[in-house]
Amino acid sequence: MSGTTRRPAVFLDRDGVLNEVTVSGGTPLPPPDAAHMRLLPGVVEACRRLHDLGYVLVVVTNQPDLARGKQSAGELDRMHAFLTDRLPLDDIAVCTHDDADDCACRKPRPGLLLDAADRLNLDLTGSFMVGDRWRDVEAAQRAGVTSIYIDRDYGERKAVDADLVASSLLDALPFIESRHVSGGSQPVVGAALKHVKIFADGADLESIVALAGRPDIAGFTTNPTLMRKSGVSDYEPFARKVLEAITDRPVSFEVFADDPDGMIRQARLIASWGRNVYVKIPVTDTRGRSTADVIRQLTADRVQLNVTALLTLPQVEEVTAALDGTRGAVVSVFAGRIADTGRDPVPVMTDALRITSAQANVKLLWASPREILNVRQADDIGVDIITVTHDLLAKLPLFGKSLDDYSLETVRMFHNDAAAAGYTL
Ligand SMILES: [Mg+2]
Repeated sequence: MSGTTRRPAVFLDRDGVLNEVTVSGGTPLPPPDAAHMRLLPGVVEACRRLHDLGYVLVVVTNQPDLARGKQSAGELDRMHAFLTDRLPLDDIAVCTHDDADDCACRKPRPGLLLDAADRLNLDLTGSFMVGDRWRDVEAAQRAGVTSIYIDRDYGERKAVDADLVASSLLDALPFIESRHVSGGSQPVVGAALKHVKIFADGADLESIVALAGRPDIAGFTTNPTLMRKSGVSDYEPFARKVLEAITDRPVSFEVFADDPDGMIRQARLIASWGRNVYVKIPVTDTRGRSTADVIRQLTADRVQLNVTALLTLPQVEEVTAALDGTRGAVVSVFAGRIADTGRDPVPVMTDALRITSAQANVKLLWASPREILNVRQADDIGVDIITVTHDLLAKLPLFGKSLDDYSLETVRMFHNDAAAAGYTL
C-alpha cells in the first residue's frame, strides 16, 4: 500500500523478558503451561508505555519443545492468550523448530523479525529487540535492529555487543525513549502550547544528540551537577561535542569560577565556542554576593547570558537591570525549588515575567519543573521558556491526554499487576 509509513517495533523475547522462567543447570526454562505463566515485574507498565509511544509490539519466541514433543500447540495457544489478555501485543511470532531443523526463523536467525517486518510493515532501523539470551541479541544484530540484552546471569554463554545491557524491560525504557524521540514520530507537544518554548535540560551526550532531532525542543541547557552525574570529566571536549550536534538552537553552559575575574574569563572562553552558546552565570557567588557587576561587564562585551539560580523577585529586578542592552539573555527562576518550599511559584513567575519583559531581548525561563503540569502553568502565564529534564521529557506524550483513557489504563494496570503477581484471596 503506497503512502503507508512504516512503523517501528519493539520485538520482545517471551521467556525471561515478559514472563518468569525457572533456571535449571544454568539454563532458563519456560513455564510448562498457561497456569504457570507469571509476568515479570514492570512488564505491564513497560508494554503500555511502548504501545503509547506508537511502537508495534511483537513477541518473537523460539519454542523448540513443540518439535521435541514436550509441548502441545493447544497449550502454547493458551499461554499466548495469557499474554495477549494482559499486554497490548500486536503479534506473536513463534519458531517451533529445533536446532537440527533447517529453518530461517530459529533465533539467532533473523527470520521471525524479518517476516514480521514484511507482514506488519515495520521500520526495522527504528526498531528494538529485547532478549535475555545471546540468540536474541544475535537475531537483532542480523535483522539490523537495536539490541537490548537483559542479562539475568544464567550459567550460559552471554550476548556480545548488545547496544544496551539492562536488568529488565522496564529498565530499558529510558534508552528506547531517548532513541525514539529522534525518529520524529513523537507527538510535537510544542504545537499545543501558546507561548512557552521547551528547552531540554540534561548532560547525557547520547540523549542530547537524540533530542536534537526533535523540532519541539527549542534549546538546550546543562549544568555542572548534571554533567557530573552523567560522568563528564572534561568540560570543553564535552561542550564541543554538544555544539557539534546542536548548531541551530541555544545551548547553555555554566561557569564554575567563584570570583568575578574568573567568571568573566571563563564566560568569554565558553562564549567563543559557538554563536549559539549562552553562558550561565549564577546570580551570586558562593558567599551570596551579587554577580550584577559581572553580568553588566559581560553584557557590555556582547556575551549572551543565562543568569541562573534565581529564587526571589528582588534578584529578578537586579539581574534584569544588569542585562540592560543585552543582545540576548535568559533569566532562570527556579520555580520548582520555590514550590519545594511550599510556596506557589505561579504568582512569583507572573511578577518575574512583568519585570523581564520590560527589558528588550531578555527571556524568562521556568527552571526545575517537577511535573508536566508546570509546562501548562508556564504557558498559561506567558513564560518564554521552560527547561525540562530528559526524564520528565519522557512524560510529555501525556500532555493533554484524555483523562477517561488514562483512568481506564490505570484500572487495567492495577488489575494486571495483581494478576501478574498471582494474588489470591
Ligand atoms: Mg528468553
